[in-house]
Amino acid sequence: KKTADQPAPRISVIGTGYLGATHAAAMAELGFDVVGVDTDPRKVKELKEGRAPFFEPGLPELIRRNVAAGRLTFTTDLAEAVAVSDVHFICVGTPQQSGSFAANLSYVEAAARGIAENLTHDGLIVGKSTVPVGTGARLRAIVADAVPAGIDVELVWNPEFLREGKAVEDTLSPDRLVFGGTSARSEATLRRIYQKPIAEGSPVLVADLPTAELVKVSANAFLATKISFINAIAEVCDAAGADVSLLADALGHDKRIGRQFLNAGLGFGGGCLPKDIRALMHRSNELGAHAAVGLLQQVDEINMGRRQRVMDLALKALGGSVLNRRIGVLGAAFKPHTDDVRDSPALNVAAALHLRGAQVVVYDPQARETAQRLFPTLGYADSTEEALTGADLTVVLTEWDEFTSADPAALASIVRNRTVIDGRNCLDAGTWSRAGWSLYAMGTVPEV
Ligand code: NAD
Repeated sequence: KKTADQPAPRISVIGTGYLGATHAAAMAELGFDVVGVDTDPRKVKELKEGRAPFFEPGLPELIRRNVAAGRLTFTTDLAEAVAVSDVHFICVGTPQQSGSFAANLSYVEAAARGIAENLTHDGLIVGKSTVPVGTGARLRAIVADAVPAGIDVELVWNPEFLREGKAVEDTLSPDRLVFGGTSARSEATLRRIYQKPIAEGSPVLVADLPTAELVKVSANAFLATKISFINAIAEVCDAAGADVSLLADALGHDKRIGRQFLNAGLGFGGGCLPKDIRALMHRSNELGAHAAVGLLQQVDEINMGRRQRVMDLALKALGGSVLNRRIGVLGAAFKPHTDDVRDSPALNVAAALHLRGAQVVVYDPQARETAQRLFPTLGYADSTEEALTGADLTVVLTEWDEFTSADPAALASIVRNRTVIDGRNCLDAGTWSRAGWSLYAMGTVPEV
């Protein structure tokens, strides 16, 4: 092939958070020279030493191996990284703006402008961050304005679909690759970079810029809708005495529906789904696409209502007040296999119980540090047993294996009251009731 004769593109990755650190390590694993850039010196220091700055299965090994091999380096100096690279991936955050549902685009804008200003030779800028439709076009104008004369640069979008907890696997073997707004040349460059996953079967969809941007947010909006759908049905199940878990299993056998993302419970959270559906709501409203606004508003509303539902169950379980009652909370991360507590429903409920005067003790196998940074006033424990000792109420809010496989008979002897709220419908109701527990679930079994 023509490209095979040319030297391999050198890669910079701007932003080394959950997305960027994984992407940088994965690109190095594919054999490219990669330099990761972040404005946070703490992250860069840890990464340079070959450590992951957050918990992600498989990532520490990948970082260590590639740093040791000399293919993966990190710096806080954008100019230095841009000068030695040909393809620049933008992986910075796009959080919700304060005081609005819109995405805060200041980081992607700064990254695009920074790359363009510091280009010393021709390059390709590839956006991976999740952005509202229309952002790429705006960034193209910013880049055109900032790039030094005589330098040729293209900006395209290649949205990222990785799941935290499975980030390495998803980056090395993506379900699909979407290339947005590419020319023949930039498409060839991306095909070369992703040669291995493509050869192993990852399909490539080449799209225009707005479609590529929208694929990502639509995927998240659909997943969020699926979760809120089943949670709305869980409410009906609660009222009708039906079992939402069985119902979801039965629905899931229909190939058109599928079982995934049909777990009723406390709802979705994290650094992506909530802010992505809100940004899409905001952008759809700007574009006058009102059907999407109304739909997503309901999805958000149903989701937030689940947190209240757990609060209501806690009040009910404790006879109307949580004041000065000891509550053992199992789970702080927004889902298992991550230490991410951004917009975590678990931590949100723990904090709400604390604000109502409960003595809350939280245990999470990985997220203690991140949770403590965000909510230092909550009590924290280092084990399930420590969290539940003397508890008036046990609340399971993140479905870690450690909790689903816990022995309710052993735990029964350390709590004060054998009452558990299963906020994730993840406990085996029979085993827990046989061990003497009263169990409240989320539309699954009648309260016992
Ligand atoms: P994050 O907050 O973990 O990481 C963002 C990083 O960018 C931070 O380390 C920050 O210091 C750095 N940064 C900000 N401005 C910078 C700049 N000008 N130069 C260099 N570094 C800068 O966020 P994340 O979870 O990695 O998400 C990043 C983007 O990826 C978001 O748009 C998100 O929606 C998207 N995304 C995330 C996931 C996920 O599972 N986390 C999956 C797919 C897409």
